[in-house]
Amino acid sequence: MIISATLSLLLPLRAFDPYALPPRYVGEVVGSSWSPPPGFTEKVVALTFDDGPDKLYTAPVLQILKEQRIPATMFVVGIKVNQQRKQVEQERSMGLEIANHTYSHFSWPSPFIAGPEVLLTESAINMTQSPHSHVFRPPYGQAAGATSIFAKSIGMASVLWTNDTHDWELTSPTTMVNYAISQMRPGDIVLMHDNRQVTPLGLRQIIRAYRTAGYQFLTVTQMLWRWDAFINATTQPKVKM
Ligand SMILES: [Zn+2]
Repeated sequence: MIISATLSLLLPLRAFDPYALPPRYVGEVVGSSWSPPPGFTEKVVALTFDDGPDKLYTAPVLQILKEQRIPATMFVVGIKVNQQRKQVEQERSMGLEIANHTYSHFSWPSPFIAGPEVLLTESAINMTQSPHSHVFRPPYGQAAGATSIFAKSIGMASVLWTNDTHDWELTSPTTMVNYAISQMRPGDIVLMHDNRQVTPLGLRQIIRAYRTAGYQFLTVTQMLWRWDAFINATTQPKVKM
């Protein structure tokens, strides 16, 4: 408890932090089955890209995001941030949200390395983006894993996704696009990867599909605030006139 409380103090003061989270999502797991909140109809979508920065495929993804003016969220791997700092600096200069996806991308890491896995990445990101995101995504969606538990203990939100494009297992951009379109719904957080060849090949069509359907693009933190506003608006006690 004392360690958690001390580490929480390392996070920037919320009042001055553009990446502050809605209080209801601090230290929570977000995404998958129970979100967006039931009844949410606002046409907004957050595109997310995991596992970068990558030598080959981050550049074409960023080119499309720039050309299409999309404020996406990049879930970066700390060791790669330290190797490809220029790409992360470009992401920051484009106004993208740069968020934590652990340092080494281990599957089910031991609790003993969970702290360094999260904090080393926080420090790598912080060198290019300060203040920075308080959003965390556990590798392989292991929200019950040690890194996710640690991230939550220092007040981060562990954010999964609501629309999996399956780009991590595909080579066909058409199949990827079809997955995305078939699962499209208001308040989506879309899972993609900027270290996959297929992703830049299908990305324009996914953006076009959401745009044609009237969607606005947000970062993950912006999306959490939209969800929060919706929950607040729909759970207000009725005032007697
Ligand atoms: Zn990953």
